[in-house]
Amino acid sequence: MSETVKQGHPKGLWVLFGTEMWERFNFYGMRALLALFMVNSLKYLEADSSIFYGGFLALCYLTPMLGGFVADRFLGNRNCILIGGLLMGLGQLFLFFSASIFDGNLEFAKTMMWLGLFVIIFGNGFFKPNISSMVGSLYPKQEKSKLDTAFTIFYMGINLGAFLGQFICPIVGDVKVDGVQDPFAFKWGFLAASIAMFIGTFVFFVLKNKYVVTPEGRPIGGLPKYNTAEDFEEGETQTANFKGNSMGIAVALFIGLFFIFRYLLVGEFGITNFEMGKLVKGLIYPFIYSAGVALAYLIMTSAENKVERQRIWVIYIVSFFIIFFWAAFEQAGSSLTFIASNQTDRNFFGWDMPASMVQIFNGLFVVIMAVPFSMLWDKLRAKGKEPVSPLKQAFGLFLIAISYFIIAHNVKDLGNSGLLAIHWLILLYLIQTAGELCLSPIGLSLVGKLAPKRFASLLYGVFFIANAAGYALAGTLGAIMPATGDKFEKASKLGINLQDVLDKKITLSTEQAAMLTKEQIGIENPIFAGFEIHNLYEFFMVFVVLCGVAGLILALISPRLKKMMHGIN
Ligand code: GLN
Repeated sequence: MSETVKQGHPKGLWVLFGTEMWERFNFYGMRALLALFMVNSLKYLEADSSIFYGGFLALCYLTPMLGGFVADRFLGNRNCILIGGLLMGLGQLFLFFSASIFDGNLEFAKTMMWLGLFVIIFGNGFFKPNISSMVGSLYPKQEKSKLDTAFTIFYMGINLGAFLGQFICPIVGDVKVDGVQDPFAFKWGFLAASIAMFIGTFVFFVLKNKYVVTPEGRPIGGLPKYNTAEDFEEGETQTANFKGNSMGIAVALFIGLFFIFRYLLVGEFGITNFEMGKLVKGLIYPFIYSAGVALAYLIMTSAENKVERQRIWVIYIVSFFIIFFWAAFEQAGSSLTFIASNQTDRNFFGWDMPASMVQIFNGLFVVIMAVPFSMLWDKLRAKGKEPVSPLKQAFGLFLIAISYFIIAHNVKDLGNSGLLAIHWLILLYLIQTAGELCLSPIGLSLVGKLAPKRFASLLYGVFFIANAAGYALAGTLGAIMPATGDKFEKASKLGINLQDVLDKKITLSTEQAAMLTKEQIGIENPIFAGFEIHNLYEFFMVFVVLCGVAGLILALISPRLKKMMHGIN
């Protein structure tokens, strides 16, 4: 087979790059608009939208377990990618429909949005794990050393797509008329996202047989029943077997934890409150947290020796710490977008940039910095100075803490009417992206390196659930954002001084309270962990403290983790 070791990368990588690029266009383009659409068209409160947004993203990262499982056992990667692509394109059409009919048909439009999100969650679950694992399968055993670069190229494809989606969808969907949000334009953004997804699926459908093949020309990612011995490593057991009693304990653990998390999050065990925000927070969030822990337990009971056990522990410990990173990072689509929308001077070289587009800088900076970062690691490795992976991830956490520290200090003196200059948000995304590059691709490859082969996809499942848990936490944290400038302005037009209301200096009449609620304005400051969040400064400092402390602890324990990794870096 040695004659098949070629310079450069297989053409199939570019097919996967292109397919993933269109898919991420659809996903991130929609993500840019979703929270603003919920608030401006469907009239949800910002706090509720953050909860929905977090729950939705979290579920998108829970279903890859299902998509990976179905592909490995029954349908193969290719079919799952096609199914996932079609589902996501369809889900976007439901959002398009919802955004077309909300005026006059609000309740039906809300149902259509939920249906759309539900379909997208499953679409993403079928698509995302399968396209990533196909990247790995493109390279025969003797070319696995190219994987790091292959994943760097692929990560750039992801972010090029995110960049394009976050450019096009806001241009057509996030429109302000005379400074006021046009609630009717969002539909065009969702339609653009849908078209992108169908293009991606079509490109993959047409090109897969020609290019997504092994060096010998056999299709990659076909039906599992056609796999041959060459597809597996020598002596590799493919199926993960669990003892019956471990399964029983895992199920019991899952149920017990579900109710504990539910109680912690919404203060009740049973369901007495059918309000949508409470339902998402009290069902989906506890589901994600408890599923992660139960699955982690189940895998650990089947570890065969000390080395394996310790390596799996490292995956769990790292997974726990990255929860805080994603919780802070994912403010991009909710609270940071609300701030960009309501309290930011978005003048960008003379152009008023749409609020939902500001997050575009993340994708842009990844495309610019991914290669320099991988070169940096190569250089440090050559000098024998490359930090161990958990330490790189601790840097990621520090960087995100720094980004929020800078923003916190810039909003400190804004008061209720001052505007944050857009360049601070751009700087925030620059620093956060550097953090992402220290943490995200590193984590993906670390799991690949540490996981025993028979558990690899399940451990990726745990790792993705940690992402999901981060998103759920992002929703909870986004919902504690205090009132932004626009709320004070709206209240003062109604003759009410909102600051006095929040400071409890005045008590509102029932009519006044109703007027504020109608304008989607909360009349109390949010509370987090027993602390009242009075202003944006305190809000951002929550992320500084969470990520700073998490980064510090991870950095301190990284020498110990290095030992537990037994020779893997
Ligand atoms: N932005 C990356 C992607 O969409 C990573 C997201 C994640 O791992 N949570 O694939």
